[in-house]
Amino acid sequence: MEALKRPLMISGGAAQMIRPILTLKKKRVLIDVDTQKDFFLADGKACVRNHRRVLANIRRVMAWSRRDQVRVISTVQRHVPSGHDGGACLSGTPGVCKVPYTLRNRRCTFDSGDTTDLSRDLLQKNDQIILCKRTIDPFDEPRAERILTEVKASEFVVIGGSTETSVLYTVLGLLTRGKSVTVLVDAVGSCEKSAADVALRKMKAKGARLIESKSLFGNSKLRQVNACQCDRCRGKLRKATLSA
Ligand SMILES: [Zn+2]
Repeated sequence: MEALKRPLMISGGAAQMIRPILTLKKKRVLIDVDTQKDFFLADGKACVRNHRRVLANIRRVMAWSRRDQVRVISTVQRHVPSGHDGGACLSGTPGVCKVPYTLRNRRCTFDSGDTTDLSRDLLQKNDQIILCKRTIDPFDEPRAERILTEVKASEFVVIGGSTETSVLYTVLGLLTRGKSVTVLVDAVGSCEKSAADVALRKMKAKGARLIESKSLFGNSKLRQVNACQCDRCRGKLRKATLSA
């Protein structure tokens, strides 16, 4: 009985007593999957195909999230140097960082780890929550699993990459938990086209809505993408070809 008189502590053990309020009723939440330099910039260790087009659309979606005050939940892969074959997104390298315009000003980052404690007003105080993960499936990471499971929103809008790995697992995990999921097909990047097509078909079969980003916010004039220094992204490819 004495335990009951003690002030409640927000820790893993108290998680069931205090349910955090992460409710965005009648609102969309943007799920931004692994938009890190290693996956989306030309000199990254595992850059997606068509990164220029995908990045342009991701940038438009982020602009939309700022304008319409859509909350963002981002996942990032962070691996320890010896534990990952591909070598992408290793802790302490530039490639692990998010593409700059995928960051909102009011944000908090949660390291990967086994504790699941959360504050009640996480999405009131922040526009973006960044969840580090050691796996491609965010639902294998206890804290990410808890946040993604408990957030209530009318629609989960998904962007990022890669389609056939992290995006697939994120979308299927959300659908399993009864969420309404929309994948912006022109704002997800993939490394292998055929695997990505299969992944998109799986998501659709399980109930995800597949739409183009412009059906969210109409056409955008934003064409130039400056976050990547490759010639294609700086619009110099044609010029370079002509002068060669
Ligand atoms: Zn580029």
